[in-house]
Amino acid sequence: MISAVKGMNDLFGRRAMRWGRMEEDIRRIVENANFTEFRTPILEEIALFKRGVGETTDVVQKEMYDFLDKKGRHVAMRPEGTASVVRAFIEHGIAMNEPMPFKLYYIGPFFRYERPQKGRYRQFHQLGIEIFGDETPQMDAEMIFTACRVLEHFKIDYEVHINSIGCKECRPAYREKLVEYFSSKKEHLCEDCQKRIDTNPLRLLDCKTCNPKAKYHDIPVMTDNLCGSCDTHFKQLKDALEIFHVNGIIDPFIVRGLDYYTRTAFEIVANTGGSQNAVAGGGRYDNLVSDIGGPDTPATGFAMGLERLFDLISEDFYTEPLISAGYALCDEAVDDLVHFAKHMSHHPVRFFADYKPKKFKKALQKADKAGAEFMFIIGEDEAKDKKILMKNLNTGEQKLFGQHEVILIVNELLNYESGKFSATKV
Ligand code: AMP
Repeated sequence: MISAVKGMNDLFGRRAMRWGRMEEDIRRIVENANFTEFRTPILEEIALFKRGVGETTDVVQKEMYDFLDKKGRHVAMRPEGTASVVRAFIEHGIAMNEPMPFKLYYIGPFFRYERPQKGRYRQFHQLGIEIFGDETPQMDAEMIFTACRVLEHFKIDYEVHINSIGCKECRPAYREKLVEYFSSKKEHLCEDCQKRIDTNPLRLLDCKTCNPKAKYHDIPVMTDNLCGSCDTHFKQLKDALEIFHVNGIIDPFIVRGLDYYTRTAFEIVANTGGSQNAVAGGGRYDNLVSDIGGPDTPATGFAMGLERLFDLISEDFYTEPLISAGYALCDEAVDDLVHFAKHMSHHPVRFFADYKPKKFKKALQKADKAGAEFMFIIGEDEAKDKKILMKNLNTGEQKLFGQHEVILIVNELLNYESGKFSATKV
């Protein structure tokens, strides 16, 4: 038997319906804040991710789905969204052609060859937003606020951790301090962190393997080592977050280990106590556009994991639509049922017809199995009199309608649905 590739999931039925509605809600929230959708291809040249995500990151070193195509080009399936968007931003001359700030969002699948477990997949989905051409701390605050808006909509309990990781001016000296601090502790660090001392010392701060931040309580922190303008930026960020009512916890161990990241870094964790509880993360990357060969353009953004968001949304957040089903009990009733299905299709109700004639008892079983709450029956008598029988499967109540009284029937269904809806809301 052929099964799905490890770490990749199918989505169907009720979960697919809920997922679709979650995406619709997200789109509405971010589009109201004037973000427009930006779609980029799944495949990119691997060189883009090496530069845009970073040669020294786990994502590039260990987790890329990369291969040579038929012409021997080295391509990779996107592991994240920012690098692709920056590539497109430069390629289409957006800095020259569009008004700044340029606000965009994307929703789609991403691929990382990680060890699959709950909340960690090889194909997963993200919502990302990016804002180009604005260096203000207030825009960082709006960006973080947008992530919070999404979580609040879905009534999720979360915590925002924020930090500043400085800039090209102040970070090198801080980096030296970290190297000096950890050099004497090398033998207590994991193998990866021993290498990171030379390649990417900031990444030591959020290592989950040897977890230095839990062991040492005097690790130098970036927020004590910011230059004057980064310090002001951070203060203004905190002020703006307060106005947006975002209660961020200052967390000096939130880092982005690459040189093009500047100043604001943040992460949002869900208060679930689970291990994969990071739902979103991001920050400012003022040097990435120019590093990839574009014009000097400040930028800020985040990515949110949609599988994790989905799992956090409560079961009763979305109500189930009312389903009704139509059955013919004899051959003579089939055409009437076709007519009825055609008329029902013009109305905002979820209805399906089963055209194969069957006994009443069998129809009842099938309707029940399909989760229908109403059933429409056309038997021999009904076909003769151009009638249709409506049965409420919850109460057993039955009503006879003319086959053309579709408006009356639809009204009955909608009234029942809205009554049920308000009953569950109380
Ligand atoms: P990152 O792009 O690594 O900053 O991740 C942003 C968010 O995407 C994380 O906070 C997670 O919610 C989610 N995420 C990252 N990797 C995975 C994965 N392998 N499976 C599921 N969700 C993921």
